[in-house]
Amino acid sequence: MSNRHFRERKLQIPIDEGGPGSAEVASHPPSSTGGISFHVYKRHESALQNGHTERSNTDSSGRFTFSAEPTMEDIRRMQAEFTDERDWNKFHQPRNLLLAMVGEVGEVSELFQWKGEVAEGLPDWSEAEREQLAHELSDVLIYLLELAEKCRVDLPRAVLRKMALNKLKYPASKVHGSAKKYTEYKD
Ligand SMILES: [Mg+2]
Repeated sequence: MSNRHFRERKLQIPIDEGGPGSAEVASHPPSSTGGISFHVYKRHESALQNGHTERSNTDSSGRFTFSAEPTMEDIRRMQAEFTDERDWNKFHQPRNLLLAMVGEVGEVSELFQWKGEVAEGLPDWSEAEREQLAHELSDVLIYLLELAEKCRVDLPRAVLRKMALNKLKYPASKVHGSAKKYTEYKD
């Protein structure tokens, strides 16, 4: 794979391509968004222009929450469209996607490197650092979802099964406040 390919792969989704107001985003009619509503694209375009990192999304108890959209399936479809349009499926086999994802995890790690412990909410980080983190976490997620797709793992359902297993392994009544691994507990 060429260096050029790797450099271009940094740009994961259409909204990253030309920056705010790029021709690609602006030219996406609803019919070519693969079922993703046009307002999702437009909202993201506006988020880019504002440099908005959604730090203030909270529920009624003040806990941070994600936005409801896009869903995992929306992101899978957006990335599939992005990859198809560039004829990059020939590079996106499971092993390559796994390595790409691990590379992106490394990019997330770089942002935390040498900072020492970091408080929840990243109160000491600049907006630029927070936005960079948002980009790198997104790269990890995009590759994770594409890897799951190419391995035929229905991730939204798989995560439900795994969380059910985690609850069985770690009953709250038994492990409350403890960091022990499940193999360390005695019945
Ligand atoms: Mg990256």
